[in-house]
Amino acid sequence: TATTMAPATTARAQIVPAALRPTKRRVLDDDMLEQLEELLISADMGVDTALRVTANMAEGRFGKKLSADEIKRILAAEVARIMDPVARPMPLYPKRPQVVLVVGVNGSGKTTTIGKLASQFKAAGKSVVIAAGDTFRAAAVGQLQVWGERAGVPVLTAPEGSDPASLAFDAMTKAEADGADLLMIDTAGRLQNRADLMEELAKIVRVIRKKDPSAPHNTLLVLDATTGQNALRQVETFQKLADVTGLVMTKLDGTAKGGVLVALADKFGLPIHAIGVGEQIDDLAPFDPEEFAKALTG
Ligand code: GDP
Repeated sequence: TATTMAPATTARAQIVPAALRPTKRRVLDDDMLEQLEELLISADMGVDTALRVTANMAEGRFGKKLSADEIKRILAAEVARIMDPVARPMPLYPKRPQVVLVVGVNGSGKTTTIGKLASQFKAAGKSVVIAAGDTFRAAAVGQLQVWGERAGVPVLTAPEGSDPASLAFDAMTKAEADGADLLMIDTAGRLQNRADLMEELAKIVRVIRKKDPSAPHNTLLVLDATTGQNALRQVETFQKLADVTGLVMTKLDGTAKGGVLVALADKFGLPIHAIGVGEQIDDLAPFDPEEFAKALTG
């Protein structure tokens, strides 16, 4: 299950580099704050959040002499303070089936994340059904089937180009008939025509609510950490398209500068349910704010 997995090192880029590690203590002055701001921004934290973090750092400490270790510790504490409230696993409800709608742009890692989550839920003793709701991308359906096989979970598909909402309805019917605990619905992620996508997502929600007015119980937005500040725009966009209830941040195993997670937490406060740390089925970890803050600040 999620909680038994080893916490992953979530950020490779370290904010306090060797250049800022003098053995001597340095005065926390405007010059130093500016340097720190730049470092935070270069770690993808975004200007607003970087300014807030350094301002919080300076409070009560301005003009004092601090060692590099002290700076790191304070910085890590400030980051953890922002991240603590958003580090929450996906809530599970007593409803059966509970519906998890998964949204995000193509390539963000939706399919992979659905596969990983399905595998974790299955390992936790839950029965899962997946619906391949991106009916316009044959490759996406094929990939989801591969992940379904890996996870040992049935994947419902529909002919290419058919109505995703009607597939979602059929999937609800099957999940109910099977007594499944969870139904995970993949969705299209083409942002080229937002009005279309909005209508498509709204229609999926409408039909599943005919079966269960409380569905979807979770709407997960999958974000690719390597897109940096773009992730912020994607949250804004998808919040208009759907009622996003939580985030999964993928590809934090790569060169991604995890600072964007701090910006996301600071700006939107949406829970981060899990992080993707690789391409394999077990590479999904719970988000650990302290570990993350330490890794980020070096
Ligand atoms: P989708 O189009 O949103 O469904 O995206 P996919 O699930 O097909 O993922 C796109 C690519 O990202 C694939 O090559 C995945 O293997 C890769 N990917 C997804 N999650 C992760 C992750 O956490 N780490 C790494 N390194 N790659 C990932």
